[in-house]
Amino acid sequence: MSVAERLSVVRARIAAAAELVGRSPADIRLVAVSKTRSASEVDAACQAGQTVFGENYVQELLNKADNVDLPVEWHFIGHLQSNKVRQIAGLVTLIHSVDRQSLAEEISRQWGRIGKCCDVLVQVNISGETTKSGTTEVDAMQLVKAVARLPHVKITGLMTMPPFFDDPEAAQPYFAALKSLSQRIAAECIPGVEMRELSMGMSGDFEVAIQEGATLVRVGTAIFGERD
Ligand SMILES: *Cc1c(COP(=O)(O)O)cnc(C)c1O
Repeated sequence: MSVAERLSVVRARIAAAAELVGRSPADIRLVAVSKTRSASEVDAACQAGQTVFGENYVQELLNKADNVDLPVEWHFIGHLQSNKVRQIAGLVTLIHSVDRQSLAEEISRQWGRIGKCCDVLVQVNISGETTKSGTTEVDAMQLVKAVARLPHVKITGLMTMPPFFDDPEAAQPYFAALKSLSQRIAAECIPGVEMRELSMGMSGDFEVAIQEGATLVRVGTAIFGERD
């Protein structure tokens, strides 16, 4: 199957999952995860109507962004080192992986330097697995409150990565927990904080995530095929 064919299958699955729970497919944005993929594969997906691409590594993103011909929107979804933030300031429209105050401060500093504001999601390690990035569920509220005070960063929601399961239904409690945390944060009415985005769900489990309220699904393999 071509990237265009795979994309249309993924879009149909997103629509079906949304309709199953009475949601509008238009409320779910597909982030095509293009890590390890070439600029020409990104162009091919773009030609097939895909506009948002997610990248995990700064250097890879910079190289690729230079070589992609069509206008695309980049999201940063991977672990981000503070000393690399400067290089992506203004290039990405959403950072999904803010998990600490020092990183948010650097994002604010670098976006401030170019006179802009960066939309970010706070990444929460709902499962508590030590191998996963993200703030803990307990610390999330404090982090959101602290980040909310920064001038050039705007929190628009939360992101999580559940543990890997063979059975996608097993991820459901983690997605539900992120949604519940987002509702608790929204109830605090923190100035400048919006809880409109839930970034959750990947190739193996995006339908379950949509049923639990995902507004951004990050899908790589199902669009581009297996990574080497
Ligand atoms: C690689 C990656 C994805 C996509 O994973 P697939 O299983 O290929 O869909 C999603 N989110 C993050 C943070 C990733 O690193």
